[in-house]
Amino acid sequence: MQNQGFERSYYAHSSNQTLHFPPLQESHETDVCIIGAGYTGLSAALHLSQKGYRVTLLEAKSIGSGASGRNGGQFCQGLNVDHEVLCRKVGKENADALWKMSVESVELVKSLIHEHQIECDLKAGVLHVASKPSHVEDMKQAVEYKNTVLGFASIAYLNDQSVAERLGTEHYYGAEYYEQGGHLHPYNYALGLAHAAQKNGVHIYENTPVVGYVSGNNPSVSTPLATVKAKFVVFACNGYLGKLHPQAAKKIMPINNFILATQPLPASVYNRINPLDLAVADSKFVVNYFRLSADKRLLWGGGENYRSRFPSDISGFVKKHMIATYPELKKVQIDYSWGGTLAITLNRMPHFGHEEKNVFIAQGYSGHGIALATLGGKLISEAVSGTAERFDIFASVPNADFPGGTLLRWPGLVAGMLYYKLRDQLP
Ligand SMILES: Cc1cc2nc3c(=O)[nH]c(=O)nc-3n(C[C@H](O)[C@H](O)[C@H](O)COP(=O)(O)OP(=O)(O)OC[C@H]3O[C@@H](n4cnc5c(N)ncnc54)[C@H](O)[C@@H]3O)c2cc1C
Repeated sequence: MQNQGFERSYYAHSSNQTLHFPPLQESHETDVCIIGAGYTGLSAALHLSQKGYRVTLLEAKSIGSGASGRNGGQFCQGLNVDHEVLCRKVGKENADALWKMSVESVELVKSLIHEHQIECDLKAGVLHVASKPSHVEDMKQAVEYKNTVLGFASIAYLNDQSVAERLGTEHYYGAEYYEQGGHLHPYNYALGLAHAAQKNGVHIYENTPVVGYVSGNNPSVSTPLATVKAKFVVFACNGYLGKLHPQAAKKIMPINNFILATQPLPASVYNRINPLDLAVADSKFVVNYFRLSADKRLLWGGGENYRSRFPSDISGFVKKHMIATYPELKKVQIDYSWGGTLAITLNRMPHFGHEEKNVFIAQGYSGHGIALATLGGKLISEAVSGTAERFDIFASVPNADFPGGTLLRWPGLVAGMLYYKLRDQLP
């Protein structure tokens, strides 16, 4: 949708390396041309280059300047859709495979960080907290289901008392605790992936928007100054896709989400509100999520809109959510506030698709892209190299078009989203 605000983010101000790549000036041929340098495109580029492919990666703005460099930094196992629902939609075997891949996606992030020595403040532990008493029973059952049916032991249910001890507030009624989930500096993770891809021979071009493409046996993409012919094309544009691929655009709705960073907090405060340095997300429809940065700021994400512009006062827009949980932070200084655009799908599962066997699309992670987009890039590399089974399991999940096409859908959908936002305010 838009790229405004990235430079204002805390992440841009605390990046630990500077990578610059030139715009594409000359036409050329390659094996794989990837459009978009967020986690999907970067991971695909890295994995494909490791398999020996010649890869060209084209980014409209700069590496990680989309959702990948701006997000909440939290990741954990699981999908947005219940396992039992997935069993009904794609069969038990494929639903089990999807669950296992979600577990793998978290390990993949950690192993890439380890293998490529990416400095991105990786920490362990994610809490999904219940915002309403009515959410508690579902949470308990979900933990029990994962422990017993899915055999996933590294999740536990915590009662309200245990949550209060960990978060210094009695605002929440219980929590799912993902011991092996984690949080990280999302932009430094993206830059680390780009650096690894570059070292592996990927040709990266920034400030190079793709403005058109031709599919078929010999696909090609065009940019303002040059054309790339490739054996394979990958669309990794997510919420910033626009009208570049109208069929793929029907599967997603871009929404804007917002974050603030406080000034570094004194030890007396951060030791009280988050002594174990966990990442936290609540159970509202419009999720509030928060965690500490490496320099002990509170990073708080909350509030979203569905327009083409961000609110003029992002800080005020987000701060009210933070103060509702921690009233004592009312006077704390807000050093940074920014927004980003992510893509959601109708069923909240990622949308993976392909045209023929040489054009791949992965998008619509619906707020769970750190791990799943990283995995998505790896699955694209498998599909390009002839092993599409795992990519196809994701692609087999029925993912309907948003009604009304890309233009007409907005008023009805926005009304629907606003309805659920209002329900967040009910007890
Ligand atoms: C505020 C916010 C908070 C979030 N919090 C979390 C979180 O805590 N945990 C989590 O897991 N996920 C979170 N997400 C979602 C997560 O960031 C995304 O799912 C993930 O980054 C998607 O990666 P991507 O590579 O698919 O897309 P992006 O990172 O958006 O990258 C797409 C790239 O494609 C480029 N592009 C688009 N069109 C073109 C074109 N025509 N030519 C060339 N380049 C093009 C864009 O410039 C962009 O850089 C959050 C998102 C936002 C916005």
